[in-house]
Amino acid sequence: MGTKSYDAVAIGAGMGGYVAAIRLAQMGKKVALVEKEATLGGVCLNWGCIPSKALIAAANLVDDLRGAARRGISAEPKVDPVKLREFKIEVVKKLTGGVALLQKGNGVEVLKGSAAFVAPNAIEVTGKDGAERVEAGAFIVATGARPVEIPGFPFGGDIWSAKDAVDLPEVPRRLAVIGGGVIGLELGTVYAKLGSKVTVVEALPQLLTGIDLDAVRLVQKGLRQREVRVLLDAKAKGLGKKSGALVLVAELEGKEEPIECDKVLVAVGFRPFTQGLGLDKVGVKLTPQGFVQVDERYQTSVPGIFAVGDLTGAPFLAHKAAKEGEIAADVIAGKKTVRDWVAMPAGIFTDPEIGAVGLSEEQAQAAGYDPIVGKFSFGALGRAIAIDHTEGFVKVVADRASKLLLGAVFVGHEAADLVAEAALALEMAATLEDVALTVHAHPTLPEAFQEACLAAMGEAVHMLNRPERPRKGA
Ligand code: NAD
Repeated sequence: MGTKSYDAVAIGAGMGGYVAAIRLAQMGKKVALVEKEATLGGVCLNWGCIPSKALIAAANLVDDLRGAARRGISAEPKVDPVKLREFKIEVVKKLTGGVALLQKGNGVEVLKGSAAFVAPNAIEVTGKDGAERVEAGAFIVATGARPVEIPGFPFGGDIWSAKDAVDLPEVPRRLAVIGGGVIGLELGTVYAKLGSKVTVVEALPQLLTGIDLDAVRLVQKGLRQREVRVLLDAKAKGLGKKSGALVLVAELEGKEEPIECDKVLVAVGFRPFTQGLGLDKVGVKLTPQGFVQVDERYQTSVPGIFAVGDLTGAPFLAHKAAKEGEIAADVIAGKKTVRDWVAMPAGIFTDPEIGAVGLSEEQAQAAGYDPIVGKFSFGALGRAIAIDHTEGFVKVVADRASKLLLGAVFVGHEAADLVAEAALALEMAATLEDVALTVHAHPTLPEAFQEACLAAMGEAVHMLNRPERPRKGA
């Protein structure tokens, strides 16, 4: 068996691993990136964020066309799933190919195969041509997370994981979605817009647990408008067949509720992917939930072994993995860096879309602030009215005394893009006045953020300012 040696090796070419590898190479390190799949980019590029966004954008186009009659445009779009799938494949190819070019251009050596630790300073990489020993001064483990399976619903055939659903094998007549979380609702909405009759089965009393309730209410309204049936407090129990059709049995209010369907999408969360890595062999400690334990420098319990991304726990966000990868790379290169971001933004590509960053009003209160809230509706915004996307709002939370901005939630058209301004504002420790004093181009959607900040101070221009409502529990 041959032996190779590097300054640092990233294991897993998702956003955590590939960004870390590029960063290390930029700092003059001799770096390798190990990946077992045929293409680089991990879940996000191959079967997560990117392909799902290609499908979501296409489904939105279909929906927009259907809803354009009041603007004098009538069209009944016809969807060719085969062509749409081809387009999605092209998108993925362009981006995964781009990542490969970036690695090459930065001098990162890509090793194809599965990595397993054999010592704290060595892994074995097994590929199609056999195994080789790879030694390094530091390792960054970034193998991500995989969808959870539930008893009675093994992935395969009629039971889709998110990966299967994103592949768009067909548009089933009836799709049952288990899990009213981010994936269930993003992909459930896509299929509903493409023509499936969708039923969502969610075990908890609300959809998108943890997300602003006003935002969730609008998502629920959007699902109703698209005739998506939502069953809350309903647990998927098993799957049977009746006259050739699939029947998902859900437990609802103590009774069994049969749901006839043609395919089932199971989207009930992610678990860390540590299988076969040999982390236990070298003594890398895991949390009780099976995530890799790291400190604020992404250092595991074993010196020289770092872990980033989904493997280290929620939130499962590609940009979080990328940021962590950068920090770990900087630490390995000897920089005095720690996890130091103010807030981690998130985008949820439902309809309407959601963008959120920082603290909610309740979280701000729990953190000891006396929060004030400002809200501005897209229904009062020129650009939103002109483009016929008036559903939604921007809500901001700030500290009453200092006016320091603490959080913001955007719901509506392009909300996941709009949240970037709030993330920058939080990172720069902006106050409501800072945002209010920033001239925003007119007519644009970000004006709603400025107006929400003005509203928090009782100074909104394009709506009537009302006296502050009494706060919950005050
Ligand atoms: P999730 O945690 O968002 O939602 C899973 C849902 O399934 C939960 O609401 C849970 O109560 C429900 N559930 C669990 N068991 C059930 C059962 N037996 N019957 C009915 N409901 C059941 O998980 P996900 O949607 O699979 O996504 C995985 C992770 O990936 C999440 O952390 C998500 O935030 C992340 N992700 C983020 C984005 C984004 O940021 N746009 C996109 C995709 C995924």
